[in-house]
Amino acid sequence: MSKLRFTALTEVLGRKPLDVSFPKMKVSDYFGEYVFDKDKMRAYLSHDAFLRVNEAIENGEPIERKYSDQVASGMKAWEVDKGATHYTHWFHPLTGATAEKHDAFFEFNAQNSVIESFEGGHLVQAEPDASSLPSGGIRNTFEARGYTAWDPTSPAFIIDRTLCIPTIFVSYTGDALDYKTPLLRALNELNSAATEVCQNFSKDVTSVFTTLGWEQEYFLVDKALYNARPDLQLTGRTLMGHASAKDQQLSDHYFGSIPLRVSSYMKELEVECYKLGIPIKTRHNEVAPNQYECAPIFEEANLAIDHNMLLMDIMDKVASKHNFKVLLHEKPFKGVNGSGKHNNFSMMTNTGVNLLSPGKTPKKNLQFLTFLINTVAAVYNHSELLYASIASIDNEHRLGGHEAPPSIISVFIGTTLTKILDELENRVPESKMTPDEKAELKLDIGRIPDILLDNTDRNRTSPFAFTGNRFEFRAPGSSINCAAPMTVLTSAVAQQLRKFSAEVDSLVIKGTKRDEAIFQVLRDIIGEVKPIFFEGDGYSSEWREEALKRGLPVFEGTLDPLNAFNSEKTINLFESLNVLTRRELKARYNIRIEAYTKRLQIESRVLGDLTKNHIVPVALKYQNSLIENISGLKEILPDREYNEIAAPEIDVIKDISYHIAFIKTNVRDMTEARKKANAIDDDIEKAFVYYETVKPFLDKIRYHIDKLELTVDNELWPLPKYRELLFYR
Ligand code: ADP
Ligand code: MG
Repeated sequence: MSKLRFTALTEVLGRKPLDVSFPKMKVSDYFGEYVFDKDKMRAYLSHDAFLRVNEAIENGEPIERKYSDQVASGMKAWEVDKGATHYTHWFHPLTGATAEKHDAFFEFNAQNSVIESFEGGHLVQAEPDASSLPSGGIRNTFEARGYTAWDPTSPAFIIDRTLCIPTIFVSYTGDALDYKTPLLRALNELNSAATEVCQNFSKDVTSVFTTLGWEQEYFLVDKALYNARPDLQLTGRTLMGHASAKDQQLSDHYFGSIPLRVSSYMKELEVECYKLGIPIKTRHNEVAPNQYECAPIFEEANLAIDHNMLLMDIMDKVASKHNFKVLLHEKPFKGVNGSGKHNNFSMMTNTGVNLLSPGKTPKKNLQFLTFLINTVAAVYNHSELLYASIASIDNEHRLGGHEAPPSIISVFIGTTLTKILDELENRVPESKMTPDEKAELKLDIGRIPDILLDNTDRNRTSPFAFTGNRFEFRAPGSSINCAAPMTVLTSAVAQQLRKFSAEVDSLVIKGTKRDEAIFQVLRDIIGEVKPIFFEGDGYSSEWREEALKRGLPVFEGTLDPLNAFNSEKTINLFESLNVLTRRELKARYNIRIEAYTKRLQIESRVLGDLTKNHIVPVALKYQNSLIENISGLKEILPDREYNEIAAPEIDVIKDISYHIAFIKTNVRDMTEARKKANAIDDDIEKAFVYYETVKPFLDKIRYHIDKLELTVDNELWPLPKYRELLFYR
């Protein structure tokens, strides 16, 4: 057997669950231990400085230099107590990962002795050399400077003895080069737009924050097996591998008992999360073998996103100790479910009201319906952009299949709400109602909670589903930075709420009563956005046809949907809210396009290399052994008997040649196609040519490799097989 696979398998078979010593404390005793949160601030900051930071967190007030010095000095005292030696600005560049550059705290003072130093300036701003991070053409290569600036709304934390300060990342011209900058702007806009709408219902509401609860799906594979799979290592997914005879058909993994080694990993992961204030609440087995999920208690969106980015990083580090590798790729294995990251979204007022939760009074429910309907309208108006925000070469394998949401954005609200919206739409104006009808209406609206809260109807095929007190956006992929879809969603909702307020106000000015004006505008919106509601099976082909009839976009691949970044509708949305400029948007589009090409180029190269030096030589070797065997048989057997016995074996020999020939020609043609594509200067054209001429080879070649895998002697096969990757744990 190939030495690498053989050693890997031997290693795996000898594995035992790691004996992790867990803190003997209650979670509440150590939750947030490594976070410079409000409690720490109170303890380490002057009262004044504490109030200023709080103002910054609650209301986005800037912090004066004097106070940032005080905060830095408080942080220093805390981090030194915690044993930190370095600090870093921690940010979300457009690579999709997080970035950090560590600096030690120590410095020489005037007397040339070593001291620990950390000042307001270090906290507030840094100038990393950003030349190697993507800018989409915004930054000239000769102007490599980028700035990171402190985001006080997300608390600093210590990881691996390094103080991490969450920051935004912008170019020297002030253009956003990260995910956080537009996100913060969008959250801010939604805050003010939603607060204005809330004022219709309660004067106590002075701010609204966005809530996000993500659900992180992932695969675990043994580290040794992972290391024996160059495709997994370099592309994050298996480019070849025949399906295991059994995988998820029996549904015996979902919610099953968690294997010992995995639960040992999960427990340690949770401890690390709790120390960093990440409120992981749920863990379970997912549908595919060796696929798992964890989900936290929802939080304010910016914090939730930082926590998810941090989680993905810690997952990998903890897994390594347990000799696991975490696969965050959207589709690491063909034929079994891929991984997503559902984004549960809602809005919450400073008075603690969840705006997507039905209330106990008609007024609260009218408010609920207002936010529900406006959110649906936002999704309806910007479904192309919402889709573009989550479209990627990796997610492409997952969407549109029968496991993830289909590539049509529709909204599911369940039968109860559908009925309520129908009634709302067809309601006669209040001026024409009898007093009895008015009372009846109030009663109807007041009745929502009882029915809804028990209402558990769920539709797993819907990409955007209402689940009782929140919307669940199911299309984001497992590796994504949630800031991408959340920026779009919150911007779209903010724009829609502004429009709603303006329409209500204009009716009120004309003399309509405010409640009635709200009803009227809602009724009109329901009429407009109706085509997006869908309660049936999103995977069915009838739905596809129906969606086309309704004029809903049906998305294909990644590159076409990405065009939504360039539309005037999108530019107008983002520019009017000051979330992203035309230039910043274009840069983002460029980055996504370039990433598409590069990922495909890498996959195609890896596949070519592996066929040449892993697969074909092994297939030839096995074929030679068959030929040897067959010639031996010919020598010792009489012709008649030989002819009878040899035929099937000769067929196998011929089959192998046929597969090898196919693989060789196609790898050659794929390489040619790549060369041609690489010569194209225009990045957009290049991406499309890659998609059209290079990508199809991947599946075609794989098919023949997988056939060989079934045929060739297991002892010779060089790569760990699906049954090993998916079932060894
Ligand atoms: P399910 O798989 O049934 O959807 P999970 O428990 O796996 O449920 O995930 C639900 C997620 O939704 C959790 O992260 C939870 O915190 C989050 N969530 C619940 N309420 C809200 C809300 N009001 N706003 C945002 N997220 C929410
Ligand atoms: Mg869910």
